[in-house]
Amino acid sequence: MRISVKAPAKINLTLDVLAKRPDGYHEVEMVMTTVDLADRVDLTLREDGEITLDCSASFVPDDIRNHAYKAAVLLKERYHVRAGVHVYIDKQIPVAAGLAGGSSDAAATLRGLNQLWSLGLTLEELAAVGAEIGSDVPFCVYGGTALAKGRGEQITHLSPPAACWVILAKPPIGVSTADVYGNLRVQEIASHPSTGNMLQAIETQDFSLMCQSLGNVLENVTLSLHPQVRQIKELMIASGADGVLMSGSGPTVFALVQKEAKVHRIYNALRGFVKDVFVARMLGAGEGEMLA
Ligand code: ATP
Repeated sequence: MRISVKAPAKINLTLDVLAKRPDGYHEVEMVMTTVDLADRVDLTLREDGEITLDCSASFVPDDIRNHAYKAAVLLKERYHVRAGVHVYIDKQIPVAAGLAGGSSDAAATLRGLNQLWSLGLTLEELAAVGAEIGSDVPFCVYGGTALAKGRGEQITHLSPPAACWVILAKPPIGVSTADVYGNLRVQEIASHPSTGNMLQAIETQDFSLMCQSLGNVLENVTLSLHPQVRQIKELMIASGADGVLMSGSGPTVFALVQKEAKVHRIYNALRGFVKDVFVARMLGAGEGEMLA
């Protein structure tokens, strides 16, 4: 028996850091949404109880260091499952890019195994297991658009924002999320995004307000470490993007665009500069859910 599950990338429409907590985590407030750039996770039942994993990108770990593998191990242990699984990940989301690819693979594995192993768990129960793997996994279990608080695991679901195109560009550098947070001085953050304005933009499907309200306090940290990220932002703005922001801890930068004609212009301008450029849709009301 085999099940295929989509694992969509996420982008941050806002990312604010409110404080550094005594447990070492940062207290964040983020508005996140899934886009239709996705990995595919195939789950094949193993009667022998073993858990194995293969990934189309050979440099991604295929053992317990892989978030999808860890998801299978945790779920098997927690719910005393006898069966095993072979996980195959068809990687389309760039790795270490700020797009939560690994978290989304873990979330897709949890959702798929819930079916494959006939566990009958709720999304809340799957999200609770996901929180043990990483802060972004609970959001990825639900998908859609949400406000995430705490260390990212406290999720409030939001209605879909105004539909638009998303052009993503990743310079050829990997960014460690831990390094970026390590370089952030919370007391010295010059300007915080207005999460309230972004929530209003989403609720009223106001595309211009959404573009004006984009903000990520990690952007300046990553920009100072990697000047290429700034160049990509500038190129997107010069090519007519309606809104531009770095996602997560980067280095991927995305442009929001409403008119299809602009998509080609921005895509072509970026392709002259960087190899990894993707065109995706941010799904609006009535455009369907991403989850398999
Ligand atoms: P986030 O935005 O959640 O920090 P990211 O997009 O920056 O995520 P990932 O692509 O998830 O980063 O990869 C981060 C690290 O996790 C990589 O160094 C990789 O080796 C490891 N990793 C573990 N599992 C996976 C997976 N299934 N896919 C990709 N990377 C994975």
